[in-house]
Amino acid sequence: MVSDLSLSKNVCVIGAGPSGLVAARELRKEGHKVVVLEQKHDVGGQWLYEPNVEKEDLLGRNKFLEGRVCGHVDYGDQFKQDLKWAVKSRAEENDGNYKEVEEVFDAVVVATGHYSHPLMPTIKGMDTWKRKQMHSHIYRVPEPFRNEIESLEQDGRVVFADGSQVTADTILYCTGYTYTFPFLDTKGMVSVEDGGRVGPLYEHTFPPSLAPSLSFVGIPRKIIGFPFFESQAKWIAQLLSGKRRLPSWDDMMLAIKEFHQSRDAAGVPKHKTHDIADFEYCDRYADHVGFPHLEEWRKQLCLSAIVNADANLETYRDSLDDHDLLQEAFQSTHFTPLLGVPDFTV
Ligand SMILES: Cc1cc2nc3c(=O)[nH]c(=O)nc-3n(C[C@H](O)[C@H](O)[C@H](O)COP(=O)(O)OP(=O)(O)OC[C@H]3O[C@@H](n4cnc5c(N)ncnc54)[C@H](O)[C@@H]3O)c2cc1C
Repeated sequence: MVSDLSLSKNVCVIGAGPSGLVAARELRKEGHKVVVLEQKHDVGGQWLYEPNVEKEDLLGRNKFLEGRVCGHVDYGDQFKQDLKWAVKSRAEENDGNYKEVEEVFDAVVVATGHYSHPLMPTIKGMDTWKRKQMHSHIYRVPEPFRNEIESLEQDGRVVFADGSQVTADTILYCTGYTYTFPFLDTKGMVSVEDGGRVGPLYEHTFPPSLAPSLSFVGIPRKIIGFPFFESQAKWIAQLLSGKRRLPSWDDMMLAIKEFHQSRDAAGVPKHKTHDIADFEYCDRYADHVGFPHLEEWRKQLCLSAIVNADANLETYRDSLDDHDLLQEAFQSTHFTPLLGVPDFTV
């Protein structure tokens, strides 16, 4: 555990999606020096819409995730007073070539997203099947799939468990996502079980043996993401500056064990360990760092979107049913300075 409590730390944030960006902002506000490493050409993560996917791997296997961009993060001796992280990355130069860079940091925040790495099933024959297979991560528009099936050919046959079969031009895997950190070497102190349980992680954020020098933002799913990531970022920043302290290693490990036991007892599969779906948990999390609780309008809008999506998945995004809640939302400090209050009467 790190006991160097000097105020300003040199921190590497891996990933520049919403989690990484808010982590960088909160760390800087707290006086830390921050370097953000991002594998794509711009920031935004999932919100950086990339229409041109022709050159991408159809199964969504991002070549950089195999460990070339963020390189290797060496962990220091956990019992040393001053834990450091050597981070190797590749920086693109003006001529398009890449230069290897190695820097040493006091802390690393992993913010590589919970929807970055597709979870693929294992199906006998999928490695040798000749036709197109892709994960929904790469799906954008339906046009390329229209009128593609022409005939029942032997080499494109898919045999189902019940004995029925079809010939498919494309298999589109809508099989969700998994967590993977191929660039991160913690000597086994952090691992991913069954593609979905990252651990041990105290409050889904801190590996007890390495925290707060190593932390994760954005692991939880089925939450209202942005405020949650912000509260995680604040907690990390304040721990690193010594303003707050984590519980003892024993207490964190006990909390993790109890949490996992409660998930197992409830029959939650391991790959759903970090699916929260609990507003009250988010408020309890926020209390660790004095972050405001979720506003009522935010919770109601979230629930309303879920209900509307259930009722009509095709069109729910196009209708504006929650005028009152939206008016309330736009009055909040999160929106007012940027957008003003929109006029729905137009
Ligand atoms: C189809 C889809 C729809 C969604 N819709 C919504 C929505 O409507 N509202 C909502 O709140 N959320 C939505 N989400 C959830 C979305 O994941 C979050 O909003 C948010 O983007 C998560 O932020 P993040 O920074 O944790 O992860 P991401 O946005 O995934 O960002 C992670 C970043 O890390 C980078 N990265 C990954 N590995 C490395 C590496 N080794 N080295 C360097 N960089 C790396 C990635 O390139 C990426 O930029 C949606 C997700 C998907 C897939």
